[in-house]
Amino acid sequence: MKLAVLGGGQLASMLAHAAHPIGIRCSFLDPNPDACAAPMGEHICAAYDDPAAIGNLIHDADCLTFEFENVAQSAVEKLAERLPVYPPPSALYAARDRLVEKRLFCDLDIPTAAFVHVDSAADLPAAVEQIGLPCVLKTRTEGYDGKGQVVLRSAEDMASAFDRIGHRPAILEAFVHFDREVSVIAVRSRSGECGLYALSENEHREGVLRLTRNLARDSRQPDAERYVQRLLEHLEYVGVLALELFEVNGELWANEFAPRVHNSGHWTIEGAHTSQFENHVRAVLGLPLGSTASLAPCAMLNLIGGIPPVEKMLELPYAHVHVYGKQPRRGRKLGHLTLRAPDDRTLADLLVKARALVAQSENG
Ligand code: AMP
Repeated sequence: MKLAVLGGGQLASMLAHAAHPIGIRCSFLDPNPDACAAPMGEHICAAYDDPAAIGNLIHDADCLTFEFENVAQSAVEKLAERLPVYPPPSALYAARDRLVEKRLFCDLDIPTAAFVHVDSAADLPAAVEQIGLPCVLKTRTEGYDGKGQVVLRSAEDMASAFDRIGHRPAILEAFVHFDREVSVIAVRSRSGECGLYALSENEHREGVLRLTRNLARDSRQPDAERYVQRLLEHLEYVGVLALELFEVNGELWANEFAPRVHNSGHWTIEGAHTSQFENHVRAVLGLPLGSTASLAPCAMLNLIGGIPPVEKMLELPYAHVHVYGKQPRRGRKLGHLTLRAPDDRTLADLLVKARALVAQSENG
């Protein structure tokens, strides 16, 4: 079998890594000659809208999937006429526009922070009046890892806010004083079978994920599962989906969802019976899903902007090192380190050491 992937970054690379042992080949389309998935399959180095390159990408492929959601609607629709495309294009559209996404949460009775859409700077004063301060202005599209968003703490912040997001259509959202951030990774097969992973507890800094831990029997797991299942069923979803949530006074509020494998699910490579990557491959190709049960307590640390010496990371017992092979740049995700420990106590001790090591090389 062959899986075609739009994008050749680390997510595509980890998909291919999971696909290989079960006899599935991958091809990737990515204009970056140094795409990190290139060594893992057939890399077609061309623009995403190059018709000949797309022809090569999907030649012989059983399915097309994505490692990002910002794909042109017309391109995806054309491709869906030629081969199965999963996750369904409708899920990509919903996830890449924050206004559509927030309205979907409301339609499905999934709690979310109050919001209003703002198309220009002139709409902002009325929007701030309605939502209250503090609040967050977020571009409707192409915002990720805290990019394309500005926190407004006082009325004076209004003047520069639209400049700072490049005068793009946006939503204004209430600032959430959350107790913690969690996410739930879920998978749905072509026949509608669902699998849910243990809740991930996430720490962000400057909008970027730094640390994820898997949680055993967390009290919020049932709520998270109910919400994500509503999304999966409504979207007639196929593949892996991640729902990011805030916990506020014992309730979960949805922040956003990603129609793909997700950074907060990287712990599943070593920490679950079947990783999010393998289950995505299985789901989109119509194969039976594997167990999502956790194997042990895990913590995953992102390596951002710089990488500690590999031998130092490998000295940590129970460490699993993933280096993506990307050029170092401030704020760039270059790899991750997963600790899969025999018990919580050991994990807590190791995490102190791992955090110190990662902090020394972190840049951004
Ligand atoms: P996002 O790009 O929406 O995932 O936001 C990135 C991170 O910014 C989130 O994981 C939160 O840590 C923070 N954040 C986003 N929206 C809000 C909000 N409305 N209130 C407080 N923090 C937020």
